[in-house]
Amino acid sequence: MRKNIVAGNWKMNKDLAETEELISKLKLQMVKEPEATVMVAPAFTNLYPAFQALRNTPIYVAAQNMHESESGAFTGEVSASMLKSIGITTVILGHSERRAYFNETNELLEKKVKAAIDNEMTVIFCFGEELEDRKNDRHFDLVESQLKEALFQLPKNAWNNIILAYEPVWAIGTGETATPEQAQEMHKHIRNLLEKNIGAEVAKNTSILYGGSVKPDNAREIFAKEDVDGGLIGGASLNAVDFVKIVNSF
Ligand code: 13P
Repeated sequence: MRKNIVAGNWKMNKDLAETEELISKLKLQMVKEPEATVMVAPAFTNLYPAFQALRNTPIYVAAQNMHESESGAFTGEVSASMLKSIGITTVILGHSERRAYFNETNELLEKKVKAAIDNEMTVIFCFGEELEDRKNDRHFDLVESQLKEALFQLPKNAWNNIILAYEPVWAIGTGETATPEQAQEMHKHIRNLLEKNIGAEVAKNTSILYGGSVKPDNAREIFAKEDVDGGLIGGASLNAVDFVKIVNSF
């Protein structure tokens, strides 16, 4: 069965000392057995210390990105096996900021996802429409093409290691969240696409997270929707009290 998951994407925030401080606060705030699987994604420089500090806690550590190749002349990049060598087995791929500022296309993301799966990693795959798409009633088609082009060629068993994160771009960092009804409508559409293209089992068992201005005061209502299995949290994950409130919103 699919799991409830709350993941914090710390983006390019928190230096080493700040990362350690946030982790200490999280450890104090978090109950021993949270209702959800909890993950945090610090910056690359802080991954290993975060992993060490969170050993033997219910909090997993994820990377925010990785390169599609195993190794080679790719200055500034990090591979799946490098992440695994420091204990990191989960990676966020396809975030809208990577798509917008670093030209990541569905075609490239297909390669990145494949590399992660080949390395037995778990992928949190992000996708979602821009405001223009929604205004022009293209949001369902756009999401369908993002999923089709990057994920639907994967072998069925790869889906054991895929978490989907629907993040409408217009709701990220804007304070404007999708209504619980808008989230549910899209998540249902996504589950139907999985059922049609991959199979009923995968549709039933894949966790679909919502991301975009999730806060302690709106998380419960969003997570209560049938096809919403948790959240990918940006801004509110930088504050331990807020993040733990969100984790406790099931
Ligand atoms: P905010 O929660 O800050 O809107 O960010 C969402 C996000 O991009 C998580 O990946």
